[in-house]
Amino acid sequence: METLDKERKINVTDAPPGIEGPGFFATKLDHIIGMARKNSIWPLPFATSCCGIEFMATMAAHYDMGRFGAERLSFSPRQADLLMVMGTIAKKMAPILRQVYTQMAEPRWVLSMGACASSGGIFDTYSVLQGIDRMIPVDVYVPGCPPRPEQVLDGILKIQELIQNESLRRRSSPEYKALLAGYGIE
Ligand code: SF4
Repeated sequence: METLDKERKINVTDAPPGIEGPGFFATKLDHIIGMARKNSIWPLPFATSCCGIEFMATMAAHYDMGRFGAERLSFSPRQADLLMVMGTIAKKMAPILRQVYTQMAEPRWVLSMGACASSGGIFDTYSVLQGIDRMIPVDVYVPGCPPRPEQVLDGILKIQELIQNESLRRRSSPEYKALLAGYGIE
């Protein structure tokens, strides 16, 4: 939970779970790294249509995704850790989406924003991918056509929760390798 420091008007992040005492605080490395990662997400916006416009509203002053430490957008997969897919993904575009995903370094997360990215939406046609999870694993789905900025922020909070609670061993676990192998990704 985060508390609002009313005097300084800034959000103060609570310490991760641990043992407190006078002059010391003990916690797990996983918790500290999780806290640092979740408050410094670098999203890569993969926007192809109208949901992208809603994302722009989410980034603008009124909703201000920077309040969650995620204002530094990255248009290079190498410097991004959250792939945000928003919009209709044509089947011709799918291999490019997958290439972008595979170029991202671990640990990486994926947020699917809106009905089109999550399921093809209203475009149940021969040319549209019926959900990006046919090509890459997805961590959080945000429903809506388009989702409101509040929903996108809720999705970011869910991603933050996943990041905070992720074990440092997960990415080298057999289960995670099997998940990627299921998508043909090594
Ligand atoms: S879900 Fe709706 S708003 Fe979003 S890209 Fe598809 S048609 Fe556009």
